[in-house]
Amino acid sequence: MQTVALYDNDAFLKEFSSRVISCQEVMVEERKLYKVVLEQTAFFPEQGGQTSDIGYLDNTAVVDVQIENGIIYHYCVSGFLSGEIVHGEIDWNHRFGNMQQHTGEHIFTGIAHNLYGAENVGFHLSDNTVTLDLNIELSPEQVREIELLANKTIARDVVVKAYYPDPVLLPAIEYRSKKEIEGAVRLVEIEGTDICACCAPHVKTTGQVGMLKVVSFNKYKGGTRVYIMCGLRALDDYNRRMDILAASYQLLNCQEDQLPSKISKLMDDNKQLKYEISSIKSDMLMNRIYGFPSDLVDVTIFSEDLDAKTMRDGVNALVERHTGLCAIFSGDDENGYNFVIGSQSRDCAAIAAGMRELLGAKGGGSPQMAQGSVQATRAQIEGTL
Ligand SMILES: [Zn+2]
Repeated sequence: MQTVALYDNDAFLKEFSSRVISCQEVMVEERKLYKVVLEQTAFFPEQGGQTSDIGYLDNTAVVDVQIENGIIYHYCVSGFLSGEIVHGEIDWNHRFGNMQQHTGEHIFTGIAHNLYGAENVGFHLSDNTVTLDLNIELSPEQVREIELLANKTIARDVVVKAYYPDPVLLPAIEYRSKKEIEGAVRLVEIEGTDICACCAPHVKTTGQVGMLKVVSFNKYKGGTRVYIMCGLRALDDYNRRMDILAASYQLLNCQEDQLPSKISKLMDDNKQLKYEISSIKSDMLMNRIYGFPSDLVDVTIFSEDLDAKTMRDGVNALVERHTGLCAIFSGDDENGYNFVIGSQSRDCAAIAAGMRELLGAKGGGSPQMAQGSVQATRAQIEGTL
C-alpha cells in the first residue's frame, strides 16, 4: 500500500500522527538503522535531485527518507512496533530552506525558459549547494538579467499553486517537464512566470523565497550550470562573504572598494622585491666565486633559493676559472636540491647520468653543462660526487 504523502496537499504541515505499518532493522554504511513505513507522512523523501527532510518520529531522529514504488521509508536511529501510533515532526528550518531554494529554482528556470527558451535538464539541492542545469549557453549579461527579473518576481509576491489538473484538460496546458511522467501530473504554477510538473513542496507565494542570488555559473555539457542561493541561505552566504571582505580590508588597512588596487600594488611590489633579492643573491654568489683560489680544480657550492639563471651564470663563471667539475646546488636537505654542473674537462652528461642512477636525480644535458634536481641530502650528494 502506498504511503499517503501529506506534504503533497500541505507543504506547511510540520507535525502529524500516524500508525506504524512496518519497521525493519537495516545496516546503512555500517550503521544500524530502522526502516519505518507509516500510513501517512509529512516527510518529503529524496527525489528529483532534492535531498530528504529530516526530523523526529516521537523522540527518534529520522536521518534519511526514501521512496520506492510509492512507499516512503523513514530511516530512524531506533525502532517502533507495528501498529503503534507515532508523532512525527519535520525539521522546519531545514524544510523551509529547501522550499525557498526549490521555488527559487522554478522562478529562475521559468524566466530563462520564457526569455531564451532554456530547458532545465538537471537540478540538485543539497544542504550545501543548489545547482540547476540549462540546455543552452547563457552569457553573463543574460544570467544577470534573469537574476534581476527573478528578484522582481519575488518582490511581486505572486501565488505559487500546486495542483492536479483534470487529465482531460492537461494536454491543453503548456508546462515544463524534465521527463515523461507516469501517473497523475502535479503542476506547480507561479502566476505569470512558470508552470512546471513537480512533486516537491514549495512556498505559498514568491515573496517567501526572500531573495535569489546567482553565486556562480559555468559552461556544462553544452549548456549552463547555475549555482543559486535563496532566502536565509543567501543571507548566510552574504554574511560569510562580508566577513572575508572585512578581514581582507582590515589586513590591508584600506577601504573595501580599494581592495583590488591595493592587492594589485602589493603584487607589483612583491615582483620588484623578488627581482631585487635575486640580483643581490647573484652578486653574493659571484663574490663567493671570485673568492676561491684560482688553483682549485673542482668547486661545489651549496646555497638556498637561487634561480636557474643565477645558477647557470655562476657555473659559467666557475668554469672560466677552474678546470675540474664546477657545480652549484640550490635547496635544502628536506626539500632536495636543484643543480647546474659545468666543466672544461669532465663529461657533465655522464655525471648527471651517474646522479640519476645513484641518487634518483632528474635531468641531464651536454658534456659541457647539465642541470636537474635531486631529492637527497648535501652529505649524500657530496659523497656521490
Ligand atoms: Zn518544484
